Amino acid sequence: MPIDATQPYDDQNIFAKILRGEIPSTKVYEDDWAYAFEDINPQADIHTLVIPRGAYVSWDDFSAKAPDAEIGGFIRAVGEVARMKGLVEPGYRLLANIGQHGGQEVPHLHVHIFGGKPLGPMLIAR
Ligand code: 5GP
Repeated sequence: MPIDATQPYDDQNIFAKILRGEIPSTKVYEDDWAYAFEDINPQADIHTLVIPRGAYVSWDDFSAKAPDAEIGGFIRAVGEVARMKGLVEPGYRLLANIGQHGGQEVPHLHVHIFGGKPLGPMLIAR
């Protein structure tokens, strides 16, 4: 069920538990601003998630409320993970689902990094 992206942050969400180490994850990268790990149900050959350490429900919440340093740190971390995965030369796709129409399932901001082969059309046909 997609979430309501306007809800208050719930620190019991699954990615908050992953950040606290309460649930295992396959770590790809971490720094002061972000944590990256493999998606449990990959939709492409490479499917990595990058999340901010801060408590933000969605891209909307993050872009409205996060300090500039946190936004910069998070965006740099997304780029770093893509470089670590060797995705720059072949190309890749970033995706952030927001709320109901975006199909967001987990109420902690996450950017999907997809790659490893041509990814096809951006969206399903209308
Ligand atoms: P959303 O639809 O919210 O943009 O994407 C949520 C993503 O989180 C999905 O791709 C799903 O497979 C992934 N996911 C959900 N629960 C877990 C989990 O416990 N561990 C990991 N590694 N990924 C998860």
